[in-house]
Formats: sequence, C-alpha cells, structure tokens
Amino acid sequence: MSSAASEHTAKPRRVFVVSGPSGAGKGTLIRGVMKYFPSLDVAISATTRAARPGEVNGREYWFKTDEEFDAHLAAGDFLEHVDFAGNRYGTLLSEIDRLHDGGSHVILELELNGALAVEHGPMSSTLVWIESPDFEELERRLRSRASDTDDEIVRRMAVARAQVDAKAEFQYVVVNDDQTRAIAELQAIIERELATPLV
Ligand code: 5GP
Repeated sequence: MSSAASEHTAKPRRVFVVSGPSGAGKGTLIRGVMKYFPSLDVAISATTRAARPGEVNGREYWFKTDEEFDAHLAAGDFLEHVDFAGNRYGTLLSEIDRLHDGGSHVILELELNGALAVEHGPMSSTLVWIESPDFEELERRLRSRASDTDDEIVRRMAVARAQVDAKAEFQYVVVNDDQTRAIAELQAIIERELATPLV
C-alpha cells in the first residue's frame, strides 16, 4: 500500500497538549475528563526530576538519570524536551506511537515551551492552556500540595509570572476557578475537537 493510501485509510489519532503553570490543576482536570473518553490516554513523559512520595516509575513519569536522558537525546527519541525549574522533561516519540498504535488519542501534559515546540512541530495538535484565577491562588495551591521545596515554589512562581502572555498562542484557555466547571469545559473542548474532521 502506498503511504498516501495508508494515510487515507488510517484512523486519524489526535494529540491534545494541555499546558499551564505548575499548580494550575492540569493533572486534576485531565484526570477528571479521562472517564468520558475511553479512547484517550495520557503519554508518560521522561524526567530527571526525583520521584515525589507516591509516584511510581512508568505511571507518573519514566524517571531517568541525566545519563539516560542524554542517551535518549542522542538517539533522537524525543518529540520535544525542555529544562524546567532545574530538571529535564521530555516527550518520548515511542510513547505517542504506542498509544496511537493501540487506537488511542493522546494527551500530553507539558510546560509552555514544550507545548509550543509541539505546536510548531510536525504533528497536528490541539493546545489547551489551563490557568488559576490569579497568582495568589496559584501560590496557595503550590504550597498546599506540599510536595515542592520553598526554592522550587519560588522558581515555579517566577516561571508562571513570566508566562502570562503565552496563552495567546493556545487555541483554548480554561480558567480553573471551579474544578467541576473547568472539567466540563475541558470535556466540551475535547468532544468538539474529536467531532471535527482533521484537514
Ligand atoms: P512536575 O515536576 O510538577 O511533575 O512537572 C513540572 C512541569 O513539567 C509541569 O508543568 C508539567 O506539565 C511539565 N512536564 C511534564 N512532562 C513534560 C514533558 O515531557 N515535556 C515538557 N515540555 N513538560 C513536561
């Protein structure tokens, strides 16, 4: 079969990129919509960050040493990768292929620069920005999850303040003021996109 023919007959699989400042609630909103979409899966990123208590290798992340991350880089294994708040994160192409081959649409939860790299890369994608109603609320959420050090929270707040204009690059913006409402909004966005034929 020619590649044009196989492209024609293959079921189109989507890539949704969900981004926004740490603490805005990306993970919670993603978990909240998953039950509505059996054919949607979250790609597991690679990171050099240390696992937080309760995190499991291969579930939240593939936890890598710097050497292992370098080896992936050298092999061209990443769709995108970034340095963020002192650690490295990257989306493995093999993760997306694995999920698409299994018949799933893919959600990537990425910080801003990775999201923009995907948008400007070869894969067609839908970008959704999630934000807190204001910075005070964002800091309160970062502190209440009690998983980051003070230094890390200061770094993450600085990154968030530097990113205020970034949302103009996104197709959709969801303000996470009320979790139930925001989940319903993200659900509606995904439904609308899945119902729209890819051009
Ligand atoms: P955390 O350390 O809190 O798990 O994640 C920090 C930030 O990195 C979050 O904004 C998260 O969405 C983002 N992130 C997680 N995995 C990736 C990835 O593979 N690529 C990029 N660009 N960002 C990621």
